[in-house]
Amino acid sequence: MSAAGKDSGAHKDSGVGEGGATWEAGRTAGPAKVEIYDTTLRDGSQQVGLDLTVTDKLHVAAALDSLGVDVIEGGWPGSNPKDAEFFARAAELPWRHARLAAFGATRPPRRTAEDDPNLQALLAAGTPIVTLVGKAWTLHVDEALRTTREENLAMVAESVRLMARHGRRVIFDAEHFFDGYRADRGYALAVLAAAADAGADTLTLCDTNGGTLPDDAARILGAVAAARPGRLGVHFHNDAACAVANSVVAVAGGALHVQGAANGYGERCGNADLFAVIASLELKRGHELLPPGRLAALASTARTIAELANLPFEPRQPYVGSSAFATKAGLHASAIARRPDAYAHVDPGSVGNQARVLVSELAGRSNVLAKAGELGLDLGGDPELATAILDQIKDAEHRGYAFEAADASFELLVRRTAGILPAWFELEGYRVVIERGRADDRSEAIVRLLLGERRVVAVGEGVGPVHALDQALRRGLAELYPALAGIGLVDYKVRILDGRDATSAVTRVMLTTADHDGEWTTVGVSQDIVTASWEALADGVGYGLLRAGAEPLAGPVLAASGAPG
Ligand SMILES: [Zn+2]
Repeated sequence: MSAAGKDSGAHKDSGVGEGGATWEAGRTAGPAKVEIYDTTLRDGSQQVGLDLTVTDKLHVAAALDSLGVDVIEGGWPGSNPKDAEFFARAAELPWRHARLAAFGATRPPRRTAEDDPNLQALLAAGTPIVTLVGKAWTLHVDEALRTTREENLAMVAESVRLMARHGRRVIFDAEHFFDGYRADRGYALAVLAAAADAGADTLTLCDTNGGTLPDDAARILGAVAAARPGRLGVHFHNDAACAVANSVVAVAGGALHVQGAANGYGERCGNADLFAVIASLELKRGHELLPPGRLAALASTARTIAELANLPFEPRQPYVGSSAFATKAGLHASAIARRPDAYAHVDPGSVGNQARVLVSELAGRSNVLAKAGELGLDLGGDPELATAILDQIKDAEHRGYAFEAADASFELLVRRTAGILPAWFELEGYRVVIERGRADDRSEAIVRLLLGERRVVAVGEGVGPVHALDQALRRGLAELYPALAGIGLVDYKVRILDGRDATSAVTRVMLTTADHDGEWTTVGVSQDIVTASWEALADGVGYGLLRAGAEPLAGPVLAASGAPG
């Protein structure tokens, strides 16, 4: 199946073909072009913990441009020098598809637009598009602006007119529009009319408090569209968990411009997740939002931006998350292998993602075979091997291992049992010293490794014992395996099993490691937390070297960590 189906022309117009894949369903031909407007760099950056440097912002913008969004809002040049610098540097760069927008507010009360330094900064940003936000809710005019409603209309009109006169395409963001419409629909529509009459090209209805539900969003958008104020766009926040749903119903109701943020970033509960909006509209409504073939870059773009933002990538994120197409197979593994379209709403490959079958304690032989096949290991011709692997899994799970979320440890177990696990290093031993100081805690680890004929002793320091071990292991392997430089720890979770009886309690460590193309999780179990952590750490590094195609040590094929089994 092609990425978005747009280049094949082979899709059915509607309905489910007899015996055809259900993934083909629901597409319709030739809907209107909808503009995708990204506000990650302005509204999205309001998220707690999201702090982008100017260079980060340029990289995020480049990723969005490469994906093929239409407009990238770079920031608010009047509000801070960082955003002004972004526009200055962005002007020097070649943009393949996207056009840049600068964001700002309408002039303040009792002042001319020409004299407003914020509007001057917007012009100075030199972008082809200017997005102006203005008040559409009487409560905000009365209480926040503390000016007259007539003056607010003049502020909107004069600010828009100034930008249009300087040749800018003006997008007018009607702030709190849905609340404003509910409070005083006549005034909310008058604000839109003032912007349109002054030359605004798109009127964006903003759900700034994010509490609107889809039926209200559809009804209000329909009523506004009937009044024909101009080309309509929408901007939803996710406070009622409806930002994506509202965006989709708004497009169905005639909106031709959708604003949102990468991965749904934004203050409070976030903005509409632009990636889910794009995938839903392309795959289920036949809209052409991205350039041909680019939908398949959705998952990698989402991950790249999460990396740049230095935020954990949510596995359950629709369409693009690592669990978005993960099924706990149980008895269904063979059925999933036969008819994947019966167990997923879209083809995972269409958004650049992939299906995963989870291995659980209930794993049967067919489940193990399906999972191994998914990893590219064909065990079909060897029923004895499949049984041996299943026995290993059952034994390991009995001891506390969990492979559902630890794909990499599962693959290493299969390879180890099948005798096809290359050896990169062997542990001779390690020692960890944990030091509690007045100001901070510090740990030091000494790791002794056997690399074929060579014996390497490496020392690492860290904020805790696991960090110190990780540092020492990397240092010991760095020379032999340069690929390790691009591989790093991203998550570490500890769980105590059977905690009621403290003497027999075991610790399970789940550790997530990542390279530029993705991440993988490994598991370690022991009565000792450091031993469990080492096991997960060694597996994580071994798996990373496997992915990177690093040249293994000569000699017999060995286990990377010696556990489990
Ligand atoms: Zn917003």
